Amino acid sequence: MTTRHVDKKLYKKCIKCRAWRPREDLTDPNDGHISKRQFGLHDTSSDGLQSICYSCKNIANTAMRSKNATQRIRHHTGTRCLTQLGTQAPPQFVANLEDYLGYKITRLVKALGKDLKEREDPKRKLRDALNEGYHIDHIRPLSSFKVVYRDQSGVEHVDWDAFRECWDVSNLRAIPAEENLAKGAQYDAESPRKEEIEASNEEGSEEVATSDTSP
Ligand SMILES: [Zn+2]
Repeated sequence: MTTRHVDKKLYKKCIKCRAWRPREDLTDPNDGHISKRQFGLHDTSSDGLQSICYSCKNIANTAMRSKNATQRIRHHTGTRCLTQLGTQAPPQFVANLEDYLGYKITRLVKALGKDLKEREDPKRKLRDALNEGYHIDHIRPLSSFKVVYRDQSGVEHVDWDAFRECWDVSNLRAIPAEENLAKGAQYDAESPRKEEIEASNEEGSEEVATSDTSP
């Protein structure tokens, strides 16, 4: 496709890779092949689309995540905590994550790295393990802590002591995803359960979703 012949109603130029990509799902009249829309939706842009195409966005997100183990652990921990707290998550919870946890994320990252070296190999790097898809595992399962509880009148409260115990550095470690999922199946414990995710979605805690995909 040369630039001259591009129909700008159907295609949009990505500001990053400068390629013309479909604005919507397009069907080729000759062979019926469908080219999928390549831009995310954006409420406030003039054409309702983001300015960077999906593939550029994926590359940027992946680079960002693999670059910095601390960012990834912070993001992961914040998201998991929000799922756990549901509607009881305080406003600005993620911004003040370290205050609620009672430690700096950098301390957690150091501890996870040290533990991984001890269990696997003195040269093992946490960043590589995360890139291989390792999960952060709760040694004592997350679901065994009664962090959100109901009082006699059915009102929900957060037991912050239980929360800190659950997320204590000493209760966390990085393990292969398969191992973690097997354990989760056994204890019904790790990786937020389906009902929990659905419940938090119904209750409108959009903040559970990743926040680093906005343009
Ligand atoms: Zn692009």
